[in-house]
Amino acid sequence: MSMGTRYTLDGMISVEEALSAVLDLVEHQPLELVELANSMGRVLARDVLSDLDIAPFAHSAMDGFALRCVDVNGPAPDASGPAPDAAAPLRVVGLLAAGSVFDGTLQPGEALRIMTGAPMPAGADAVVRIEDCAVIGEGPACPAGREVSVLTRPAPGDNVRPSGEEARAGDIIMRAGERIGLAAVGLLASTGNAVVEVYGRPRVTVLSTGSELVDATAVPGPGQIRDSNTPALCAAAADAGAFAVAMPLVPDTAEGLRAALEAAVRTSDFVVLSGGAAEGDFDYTGAVIREMGVVLFSKVNMRPGKAQTLGLVGGVPVFGLPGNPVAAAVGFELLVRPALRKMQGHTALERPRVTARLAADVTKRERRRMYLRGTCRRDEHGQLSAIPAQNQSSALYSVMHASNCLIVVPEGAAPLAAGEAVECVCVNLPEGEVL
Ligand code: AMP
Ligand code: MG
Repeated sequence: MSMGTRYTLDGMISVEEALSAVLDLVEHQPLELVELANSMGRVLARDVLSDLDIAPFAHSAMDGFALRCVDVNGPAPDASGPAPDAAAPLRVVGLLAAGSVFDGTLQPGEALRIMTGAPMPAGADAVVRIEDCAVIGEGPACPAGREVSVLTRPAPGDNVRPSGEEARAGDIIMRAGERIGLAAVGLLASTGNAVVEVYGRPRVTVLSTGSELVDATAVPGPGQIRDSNTPALCAAAADAGAFAVAMPLVPDTAEGLRAALEAAVRTSDFVVLSGGAAEGDFDYTGAVIREMGVVLFSKVNMRPGKAQTLGLVGGVPVFGLPGNPVAAAVGFELLVRPALRKMQGHTALERPRVTARLAADVTKRERRRMYLRGTCRRDEHGQLSAIPAQNQSSALYSVMHASNCLIVVPEGAAPLAAGEAVECVCVNLPEGEVL
């Protein structure tokens, strides 16, 4: 628990305090080596160097002719000089494909037919695109021994990619803490880093409690409902980078929860529980965690879902989410997902937030901070507008599914009027993106 966490009389803490408590509790996963094909989204544990100059050699950026500019432009090229067509044609000395090397040195008056990616021949200083050349006479496409007229005035370096443009041998090409994306994988591959050291992925066990629950594959009997939280939270944990494992459903008994939790902490780096987190007659989450370890908090000033519980059992963080589906999802988004990201070395932990204008009055206010399901989008003037969903029931996944953000309504008494600025947590945008 971070220093300075303030509890109200009933033990309720703010969302910020809850987040810093869970972030303080989790640790970075042990490091591991991964091959690049499996490295997407992972976070580098060390600075990475290039082993070579990349590109290792100057090469053509176009299909065309490698040549010496002076042969086309004359010794002192300037715009008022002779028209390009006045230059003598160049003698074609061969054809060079990518992967081959031209042995000789281009001599005055010579040109080399060259393909994209082929190394520049010694002596040449530019490439002229094939479209800007005219091969003299009829004949096959490979015109060794023929002559070519150059129709433009090339400058040294034209259509040549220099060596070392991407990196120099020994350069740090990525830093520890950077996230690996598609371009990073390419950069790592080209610089000789086929295997990289990254933070490991946590094993997350998801377990739901509730005697009314049946598996999603079953048809519920009287009084029963399908367990929607386990698949939702497993999928969300996997999306956050974890290895997520679902446990069998746990009925509302202290013994059942104890046994399940004991098994879960043995094989997990983090346990996500849902249900039984409130103070009903059959809500055992807080009591069982306290009995098996410690409870760091059990109430957070948020709606939906004030019954958010953080505990530590056998050295493993256990997060008890409420059973109400949207309360569980919002708790996961705000408090669990950032923790799972931190364990994997990410430094951008929270979803992006934007400020938008409320599209409708919010009359219902209360002491708790509200996270309204809603849609954030640009209106016809390009302004961001936040439209709260009509139905704010914490039981309805459908409303959250149709939303793209959580609209933050700060704790306080006064109603908010349409047009006021509010913050939106963009739960459907990846970290680092903007709307
Ligand atoms: P609880 O937090 O256990 O008091 O549950 C609050 C509400 O959420 C009740 O209506 C439960 O039936 C429902 N609920 C609890 N767990 C789940 C679950 N895993 N899937 C779907 N609904 C649930
Ligand atoms: Mg329950």
